[in-house]
Formats: sequence, C-alpha cells, structure tokens
Amino acid sequence: MFFVPGPTEVRPEVLAAMTQPMIPHRSAAFEALYARCAARLQTVFRTTRPVYIHTASATGMMEAGMRAAPAGRVLSLVNGAFSGRYATIARSCGREVEEISVPWGEAVPLERVEDALRTGRFAVVTGAHSETTTGVLQDPQAITALARRFGAVALIDSVTGLGGAAVETDAWALDYVLSGSQKAIAAPPGLSFAVASEAFLAQAADQPARGRYLDLIELDTFAAQHNTPATPAVSLFYALDVALDRIVAETMDVRWARHHAMQHAVERWVEAGEGGALGIGLLAPKGIRAPTVSVLTIPTGIGAERLWAAVRDRGVTLGTGYGPLAPTTVRVGHMGEHTVEGVEHALQVIAAAARSLTT
Ligand SMILES: *Cc1c(COP(=O)(O)O)cnc(C)c1O
Repeated sequence: MFFVPGPTEVRPEVLAAMTQPMIPHRSAAFEALYARCAARLQTVFRTTRPVYIHTASATGMMEAGMRAAPAGRVLSLVNGAFSGRYATIARSCGREVEEISVPWGEAVPLERVEDALRTGRFAVVTGAHSETTTGVLQDPQAITALARRFGAVALIDSVTGLGGAAVETDAWALDYVLSGSQKAIAAPPGLSFAVASEAFLAQAADQPARGRYLDLIELDTFAAQHNTPATPAVSLFYALDVALDRIVAETMDVRWARHHAMQHAVERWVEAGEGGALGIGLLAPKGIRAPTVSVLTIPTGIGAERLWAAVRDRGVTLGTGYGPLAPTTVRVGHMGEHTVEGVEHALQVIAAAARSLTT
C-alpha cells in the first residue's frame, strides 16, 4: 500500500484510462475532454471562474502565478520546503523577496503577516495552504484577506489542500490558487491547475515578464476555447477525466469529511493509542493539522529511517521525512482515495515495525 504524500495511490481505472488512443488536441474530441475536466474542477475549486489545466507539475503554476502577479516586493510565508520554494521562485523571477520564516511544524502567525504588510512595502504574498513537509494547515482566506487589506494579492499553494482540505475559491475571494494532479486529486503526476480572480487576471495583462509557456493570459485565452496553448499530455487528461468522476460523485463535503476522519485516525493513534505508547508523536500541533498528510515524529531509539524501511518491508510505503526532517520523521500521506480503514491498517503496520525495532 502506498501512503506517500505525492504522488499518491492512483486507482486502476484511472491508470487504465491512459491507454486510450491519441487524439489531436486541436479537435472537438479534445475540447470536449478539456471542457469536462475544467467544469468538474470548478466544482472541486468551488468556483465559477475558469480553471486552467496545464501540462506542467504544480511548480509550473506556482511560477505562472508569480509571473502574472503585480509588480513589487514579495512577502513569502515560509514554514517548510514548499512554501520556501515559492520564495525561491519569486527571486528567480527577479523579485525582491522578504520571508517570514517560522520553525518547521508551525503556522505563520497572522499578526506577523499583518505587521509586515502594514509597512505597505509588499505587492504580493505567497503561502502554502497545506505544507506537505510538515503537515501544517494554514488559512488561505485569512491570508488573502490580510493581503487585500494592505493592497496586495495572495498566491496560495493548495497542492496538498485541494481535493482533501476545504477550498472555497469564490467564497473566500482568493486571488490566485493552484494545485497539482498527483496529490489529493489522485491522478498521475504531470498536470497542474490554477484559478485566478477576475481582478488578478485583469492586472496580469499589464505584467511584461509573463514568459510564454507559463503565461496565464495565454492559458486563459485557450481555456475559453476548452484548449491549451501548446500540446497537452493527452493521456493525463484521460486519467484526470476518470479521477474527477469519482470526486464529483463523492461530493466535496463528503470528501473533506473523509480526509478529516483519516487525520483523526492518526491523531487518535498518537494521542490515545499505540503510536503514542511507542513514543511516536505528530510534528504539527493540534488544531492546525492538515487532513491530507501527517508528519510523525519518531523517537531516536526507533529511528525514522530504520522505521521507514521496516514498514516498507511489511508492504506499506510511507513518505520519508523531508530534508532536515529526514532523520526524525516519516510522513503518512492520507489523501486522494485512501480510507480510514486503510490508514488504520497502515498505522498497525507502523506500530508492528516500530515494536520490532525497539526489542
Ligand atoms: C508537491 C507539492 C508541490 C510541488 O508540486 P510539483 O507537482 O512537484 O511541482 C508544491 N507545493 C506543495 C505544498 C506540494 O505538496
């Protein structure tokens, strides 16, 4: 069983869809495919705005948002590797960047964001909804509202949020929100999605360095014709089409509740179950834990790297701890099509592996 926090387990019928024959992308057949995917992604994003679907991993849509964002300084909220990546992307796009960094495992306090924005020096804010390296959830609505109050826009990375954690693009008035195919959407890697507000898109037209492949205006122009500026990964669209069938049939509220139930199963196991008895903890504090990924802290007597290997030998693949957290944590990705029962099984396997290492 596969509990890596991206790519995630992909159902057989989704994989099988990729063996369908090629169609030309400048065709009614592809336009129908694009339109089906985009319309259902509107349901997933909870938006009436167009959803852009690009052949690029999610990092591509991070960069597309930055290139289209208003000129000026960028304030990056950094609480892990992926939110740090947004700061790096901003710098590589020639932006002056200031980071608010907090220790990995924490959320960025909104008061610090407000204090920084109050100086009036920033045009753009970046942040991760769900920081996949630490399992911490932040509030995209609050970040976006703060940015707006001080005349800035917010670019929200919801790569491990969308499809697992609640995202209300329109109700929360998000400026720009992006995600990828291989996390809670449970399709193979290679496609990314983004939604821009009307105002964000309008000002994007004035930004001179939008590039070509990641030009949001181009994506918007082609999306209006249910198409893409360049040749799309047609096979991945076939897979996405089937993955979205399941998501829409489940309904977003039920899907979000299922993800919370999976997170609660991990929480119970740590707070009142075998995980806690073995000394295993959760990196993220209670109340800000992502419903899609849990980062387990592993006592040195067990050893995170040894535990990861012992769990894999028992047939369960977890995510390793990320970067500096590799020696002390393992990650349980519980997003996409996973179930509470599946997560509970994985936790039993982790406990058995941990016991074998402590004796
Ligand atoms: C996986 C991930 C990314 C990067 O996505 P790619 O598809 O690898 O480009 C960015 N942000 C978060 C929060 C992620 O989990």
